[in-house]
Amino acid sequence: MDRVFFLMFATILPIISAGIPLSCHRDRTVVQDGVHDYGPLMDKIPVIRVLLINDKREAQVAITGCYQITGSLTNVIDQGQGLRKCTLSISDGGINIGNKHYNYSELRIVTQQDGGIELNNVRYRGEIRIVQQLNNKFSVIEEIDLESFIAGVLGSEMPQTWNDDALCAQAVTARTYAMYKKKVNRDNVYHLDMLELAYRGVANETSRIIKIVQDTKGIVMVYNWNIFPAYFHSTCGGHTEDVHHVFEKDSIPPLSGVECNYCNNSKHSHWSKDISKSAIEKKLQEANVSISSIRAVRTVNPGAGNHGSRVEITSANGTKEMNANDFRLLIGPNNLLSTSFQAKSNGKSITFSGRGWGHGVGLCQYGAQAMAQKGFQWTAILRHYYPKIELVRVY
Ligand SMILES: [Zn+2]
Repeated sequence: MDRVFFLMFATILPIISAGIPLSCHRDRTVVQDGVHDYGPLMDKIPVIRVLLINDKREAQVAITGCYQITGSLTNVIDQGQGLRKCTLSISDGGINIGNKHYNYSELRIVTQQDGGIELNNVRYRGEIRIVQQLNNKFSVIEEIDLESFIAGVLGSEMPQTWNDDALCAQAVTARTYAMYKKKVNRDNVYHLDMLELAYRGVANETSRIIKIVQDTKGIVMVYNWNIFPAYFHSTCGGHTEDVHHVFEKDSIPPLSGVECNYCNNSKHSHWSKDISKSAIEKKLQEANVSISSIRAVRTVNPGAGNHGSRVEITSANGTKEMNANDFRLLIGPNNLLSTSFQAKSNGKSITFSGRGWGHGVGLCQYGAQAMAQKGFQWTAILRHYYPKIELVRVY
């Protein structure tokens, strides 16, 4: 076994899931188009557990095709052919689906190949688990093969009119991120929250998206033969940021920030937004930050891409500091587009003038599309935004 393969064997394989039978006799790596291919390291596509609904009392559910409902074990407790839209809720220690009551703390609904489950009007393909929580609330988790999940993400994360190489780069990025989350959350009820990757079930799947996912099937990025959280965002505004600066996580070369001369044409490259002081105060108070009568907001410790690491909020209660990205998410990521901003007090509102959209770490989507338009291949796009990575096909 050569050294590189030994390192892969030691570090990549445990990332995925335990207990996968592997042959000890493998050929040396084949590197094709910059991707290391040892032959499949995993014998099948991994399954990922995605949180669709959390901490809710009600949801609307509908099923097409044949379905089976099982309890916490594998015993089939109900089955049928299609289910009209009805309400999912909890009562008397059991789960209600329409007018049926199942005296179980957990249910699993499985449909046949051509069937599907609609939850709050979004259609999903995988199996779903309904898990009771406290106070008559429940969560819903989808168990889906990673490639189908990536198709769902890709269709929602990038315009389908974009170039193949931008879409391929996004597919590998999303797969790497999801595989990392599967590794770190392997013992948890779910691996990732659908909101982390703008997942919308099968809604935006098209034959083009499915082909892009298929063309990059099983390919992930690794650094030092370890999978890593491949963050991405819409528009960096000129330079991506170090992961430590934004998320206070250990910095590694692929997530330490690079110059981006490609996203100038993004509509989010420069922006200006007036947000009322009362709206900001309300959001902060809801998050238990005691603030009243805001006077000024400013970013502190800007990084290479000018995204603040922290923000300072001056109000009648004095000056408070908080993580800048947390502040952005609290105000609303569609309102305060990034933490690369200058803020000016304007009577009852604050005018934020900024650059870029998103947290600024990892792949810049608009930059990736501009690179693809200039003729860069998806492997080169990934190597630009994530320096020192290797690309590996694991299944
Ligand atoms: Zn950029």
